[in-house]
Amino acid sequence: MSGSESRAQAVHQITNREPTAVKKPKSLEKIWATDVFTLVKMEEALSKKAYKSVKKTVETGAPLDPATADIVAAAMKDWAMSKGANYFSHIFYPMTGASAEKHDGFIISDASGKAITEFTGSLLIKGEPDGSSFPNGSIRMTNAARGYTAWDPTSPAYIMQTDNGATLCIPSVFVSWTGESLDKKVPLLRSNAAMNEAAQKVLKLMGEKEVATLNSSCGAEQEYFLVDTNFANLRPDLLLAGRTLFGAPSAKGQEFDDHYFGAIPERVQVFMQDVEERLYRLGIPAKTRHNEVAPGQFEIAPYFEAANVAADHQQLLMTVLKNTAKKHGFTCLLHEKPFAGINGSGKHVNWSVGNATQGNLLDPGKTPHENLNFLLFCGAVIRGVHLFGPLLRAVIASAGNDHRLGANEAPPAILSVYLGSQIEEIFDKIKEGEISGSSESEIMDLGLSQILPFARDAGDRNRTSPFAFTGNRFEFRAVGSEQSVTGPLIAMNTMLADSLNWIATELEKELEKSDGEQTPAVIAVLKKLMSEHGNAVFGGDGYSEEWHKMAVDERGLKNIPTTADALPALKSPEVIKLFEETGVLSPRELESRFEVYAEQYILSIAVEAKLVIDIAKTQIYPAAMRYLSDLAMASASMADMDIELENSTAKTVAAEANAMMAAVNELSDALGKEDFASEEEHMQFCANDIRSLMDKVRAHADTLEAELADEAWPLPKYQEMLFIK
Ligand code: ADP
Ligand code: MG
Repeated sequence: MSGSESRAQAVHQITNREPTAVKKPKSLEKIWATDVFTLVKMEEALSKKAYKSVKKTVETGAPLDPATADIVAAAMKDWAMSKGANYFSHIFYPMTGASAEKHDGFIISDASGKAITEFTGSLLIKGEPDGSSFPNGSIRMTNAARGYTAWDPTSPAYIMQTDNGATLCIPSVFVSWTGESLDKKVPLLRSNAAMNEAAQKVLKLMGEKEVATLNSSCGAEQEYFLVDTNFANLRPDLLLAGRTLFGAPSAKGQEFDDHYFGAIPERVQVFMQDVEERLYRLGIPAKTRHNEVAPGQFEIAPYFEAANVAADHQQLLMTVLKNTAKKHGFTCLLHEKPFAGINGSGKHVNWSVGNATQGNLLDPGKTPHENLNFLLFCGAVIRGVHLFGPLLRAVIASAGNDHRLGANEAPPAILSVYLGSQIEEIFDKIKEGEISGSSESEIMDLGLSQILPFARDAGDRNRTSPFAFTGNRFEFRAVGSEQSVTGPLIAMNTMLADSLNWIATELEKELEKSDGEQTPAVIAVLKKLMSEHGNAVFGGDGYSEEWHKMAVDERGLKNIPTTADALPALKSPEVIKLFEETGVLSPRELESRFEVYAEQYILSIAVEAKLVIDIAKTQIYPAAMRYLSDLAMASASMADMDIELENSTAKTVAAEANAMMAAVNELSDALGKEDFASEEEHMQFCANDIRSLMDKVRAHADTLEAELADEAWPLPKYQEMLFIK
């Protein structure tokens, strides 16, 4: 079957598709966390003493003794087997941002050939995957490949169900034989601990008597695209690179703004409900669903949870989205920019810190100017973003996210903080050494008797800011849809820890000067903080030209457009010092992260470039030649009949096909280049030379798509992929 016939066939299959069998929805109570080994289930299964010990570990991170681990392991195995699981797996999160697992059976056989099952505390606590092929930067040579996974009791174990089996999944850390972190979980846990330690100091100085362990929270909004699998299977670029490397714009795109919050197409809603049921079983609190800006684009947002659990759940959510989509005949695209000219996908990471005694420290309450703890924590975030903007940019750097950042659809590649008018006013006053009330939230009365009056938020929203205060949390909006939330959470917790440490030192001095009076001391600290770091606060239009100029020229902020420009921040002395002093990452662990991310970037660009070459040569060029030969034949037969055919189309097609192949050859040559002095130089070559050559090939190919007869075109077109469901 020729490419174009496959396209027609795909449309036919979608049109005649049997709807997915609809399940009767189950009540939330019946399914909530049924596949999770929750504290409630542990309480039922464990002795009082064992349960208390585990609960303490879960809540405060206190160590668990091995005897209790044995008891937990036995109970966990019994529970898992009662749910049909014969296998277990430590789930860990290597530096690539993926989730990794290695399954082992509970089974062992004894001398008489009888099968028995075994799962001890030591199997629960420690695993040893042959992890030599996980990227580790320079931490682990393949000849010294030992790596361990170790149970993280603070994230609950769960059962992953497939159609004919179930596996007990145990969230774990992944470390080298030397104890260095090879994963994303260890630094996240350490960053939480560092933040807690620094926050305790500040809160104690502020006279708080009882301060429970602080934890960070995360609620992540996930955007994604759905494309019918019949189309996706005909697009090698979508299958292997997750985005279209070719494609002329559709006559209708998103310009009508008719998709955002529009009625969810029924087939998609059936898919979403299936996803939600699976998430509920896994104890993931899916809460919000809606259409996004682009056609074919949707969003799901779970309710926020402790950062460590939320991060594991985020990984699981991405897996569930992809797997469930397949069952509904969809391919779920998590890439940041699957379609050129159409909005890309992000993952807004909502983040706050708090504890059981003081509550959410980023909640300003009704009178923020009187809430000194809030002002200190908010100030700490401002300082962090100002000092470590380039780090925040580095942790969201990827080949995919480069297409979004700074492209007037997503926050710009300049890191600034939006506070909203109410909080901004307070900090402006603090700059002058005063603290006073501010515009309060007003009551919105529409003057319609049937609409009840409601309280309006004190600050508006700003969609153009990469880092925005949204009432009781910060929202890091520049994170890419495919990325793990862990990198951003680590960076935010660590910069906060650093700022709170600085605040603690300054506050101690100021409290001495003010004889322990808090308000003047806090004002003095925050005044100094704002005079040094207030430049990061920006409430205007982050997409505007003026801001790009002002941010760089007047405010000294950095505009960091590509991953190649962003990743070297991980090697800067301030960032090395930040992670070392807070104990979150050793210099070697940090260096290895730079190496892994740089390699990932270079590899992704290389895969895309190879695909561009392959698709251009084997699909687009042949289609152009067939069409040319059709035109030539038609022209010859017409000439036989003395009819002269206009030949401008043939000329354009020939010229574009030649130009495309010339660009393909240039790209091939560029890909062959190997002599790079450094990883940095290689990344720059990818960001500039390779990517612009890919764009050059694409420009000719997209012109060909607009010239060739529709039936001659081999690849599903934008309008088909975006609009046919
Ligand atoms: P938006 O209006 O920004 O699109 P959504 O309701 O889609 O908001 O998502 C907001 C996310 O922020 C949710 O995951 C929500 O649970 C989370 N969130 C709310 N409060 C907090 C908080 N204090 N800390 C962290 N996340 C929070
Ligand atoms: Mg949001």
